[in-house]
Amino acid sequence: MKAIVFEDFKTFPTLKDVEKPIPGPGEVLLKVAGAGACHSDVAVYNEFEEGTPGAVPPPFVLGHENSGWAEDLGPGVSGIKKGDAYLVYGPIGCGRCRACSRGQDTYCENAATNPYLGVGLGRDGGMAEYVTVPARNLVPLGDADPIAAAPLSDAGLTPYHAIKNSLPNLAGGGRYALVIGLGGLGQIGVQILKALTGATVIATDMKPEAMAKAEAAGAITVGGGEGQVERIREITGGKGVDAAFDFVGASSTVKVAAQSMARMGRCTIVGIAGGTFEWSFFTNPYEATLTNTYWGTIEDLHEVVDMYRAGQIMPEVERYSIDDGLEAYRKLQAGELSGRAVVVP
Ligand code: NAD
Ligand code: ZN
Repeated sequence: MKAIVFEDFKTFPTLKDVEKPIPGPGEVLLKVAGAGACHSDVAVYNEFEEGTPGAVPPPFVLGHENSGWAEDLGPGVSGIKKGDAYLVYGPIGCGRCRACSRGQDTYCENAATNPYLGVGLGRDGGMAEYVTVPARNLVPLGDADPIAAAPLSDAGLTPYHAIKNSLPNLAGGGRYALVIGLGGLGQIGVQILKALTGATVIATDMKPEAMAKAEAAGAITVGGGEGQVERIREITGGKGVDAAFDFVGASSTVKVAAQSMARMGRCTIVGIAGGTFEWSFFTNPYEATLTNTYWGTIEDLHEVVDMYRAGQIMPEVERYSIDDGLEAYRKLQAGELSGRAVVVP
């Protein structure tokens, strides 16, 4: 079968023929419906090298945002129906520690000795006709469209988890949220904030068309450049935002997020650009929190699917055949995409 393979660090992926996988004990073979291209993949193949925190040694098939139809069940699998559509929870921990027991494989206590981080991250992912995944990582999609659902695995789950952790900051009247970076994650982030909170959502991106989309989803947008923080503060009546979500993570965006905070606000860095910001008693609004998040829990993913099925989250996708999958990554890297690129093999 054809697959998009990450073959070596600092090397653009290749489209090649690989063996169709066979589901092992406890695993399910999925016929892939959709596999989303996430910006983290660009870091995986372009920026990371051996020893970089989060680096996963090649080779493996890319694709950690996957959906598909159960085609075959490995030994010992029950409760999964052949032909049914499922969304894949990507992280794979040891399955036994406290973190994994609460469905939070992302923070597995045995990560150091696990063979991979997850599906499409060290272990073959969904940018192929077929993928095998542990049965415990499947979330049923029912009759919802599995192709548009694929980005929910990460571009939906990651902002959902970050926003859920910030809900106490956004509950109550007169609250403000800031979303920086309106790509795959940021656009869904705006939708989730609108659906789950009554907060005024302020959003920003370098691309006018990305801001137009966020406006259509109910956000107030503020362009970049000189005076950006002042304009954000002005919208909030001077007090600043109660929660900020930085889906870029560069020094410049972390600075905007941190300087826009209200007292007791919560600033979450999600983007992995690796930027830094000086945070001290005197720069920090009183009791403001600066934190980060990584992906989410499988329980969160069930909730994201509930929101999708209720029409509260509508990922906008650009479909690519597997033959055009490398073009999807090229465009993602160049910032030329307008919706989440989903490879439909
Ligand atoms: P994307 O390429 O779809 O979107 C990025 C958006 O940010 C684009 O619209 C771009 O125009 C905008 N942008 C870039 N630089 C900007 C700047 N300086 N100011 C304002 N806007 C800017 O990327 P994505 O797939 O949505 O991923 C976003 C980030 O989140 C990436 O860094 C990715 O690696 C990271 N990520 C983190 C997690 C996690 O668990 N923490 C999970 C998935 C992705
Ligand atoms: Zn674990």
